[in-house]
Amino acid sequence: MKALFVLSLDTELAWGTFDKKGFITYKYHFDHYRLLINRLIELLERYSIKATWAFVGHLFLDQCTGIHQNVLSPKYHWFNNEDWHKYDPGTGLKRDPYWYGKDILDKVRSMKIKQEIGTHTFSHVIIGDKECTAKIAVSQIMNCIKLGAKLGFDVESLVFPRNKIGYLKEIAACGIKTFRGTEKNWYRKTPRGLQPLFSMVDRISGITPPVYQLSELPYQYDILEIPASQFLTRYDGMRKFLPSLVRIIKAKKGIKSAIKRKAIYHLWFHPFNLGSSEKMFYAIEEILKYFSRERTKGNIENLTMTEIYHEYKKLHQ
Ligand SMILES: [Zn+2]
Ligand SMILES: [Zn+2]
Repeated sequence: MKALFVLSLDTELAWGTFDKKGFITYKYHFDHYRLLINRLIELLERYSIKATWAFVGHLFLDQCTGIHQNVLSPKYHWFNNEDWHKYDPGTGLKRDPYWYGKDILDKVRSMKIKQEIGTHTFSHVIIGDKECTAKIAVSQIMNCIKLGAKLGFDVESLVFPRNKIGYLKEIAACGIKTFRGTEKNWYRKTPRGLQPLFSMVDRISGITPPVYQLSELPYQYDILEIPASQFLTRYDGMRKFLPSLVRIIKAKKGIKSAIKRKAIYHLWFHPFNLGSSEKMFYAIEEILKYFSRERTKGNIENLTMTEIYHEYKKLHQ
């Protein structure tokens, strides 16, 4: 077994942050979203990388009426018990490009190297929140699977919004085969209040990120967890003071560690994070360049999340 590199991309446009008015905070990022995606695609093609694009299902659409009858959504107290779809403009791609993404989906699907299209729920509902029921979770996932089937592709992988995991049994029964788990980092068992501090220490110090043995990945109800190794820190706010080199060194250490242990290194970010600084592209390219050199030496391979699932199944036949 070789080491494996997985890249997952939370593709959500304005859906991922509307509850925090992200469409105001990240206006620049969203206004340039298509350009950023084009450049990311170019980079992935240059280094022959296949990624798992976890799309918010609403972005499979190029228009809607604003009413999604079959899609259930929760009312969260922290969202004032308001309609979760209250910002859905009920128009189309041309008029409201923050909320539709069929053009992006088509672009990703026509890439030279076949990418995986996964789901990030239909409307970015926080599944792991106790105000989201199993029924809501299932309706969100099933709608993405059905839309995918209509467009001609299988939706088999999931990234939970805000990485809040829940209803694995019910979601597995929908046909989802794999999801991204949270980083199993060194500070995850420390008191909750201290974790933001430790997370900062972890990022600043460039500590080797966790990597995972394929044979030991958590698996139940026929759904495989592929935990994250590293979130590629964006450059918004205070994070812009973190030098690019620290991000790159951490990723290289992750790849190195995966090679040494014949394990999985799983990198992730949101494409809109690319709008935080030009340096994002620099960091990604440095990481992909390094990976690509190691791949040429035969040390590591790149797989999508569902491909990892199939490798796991082969191993446990
Ligand atoms: Zn809609
Ligand atoms: Zn998200």
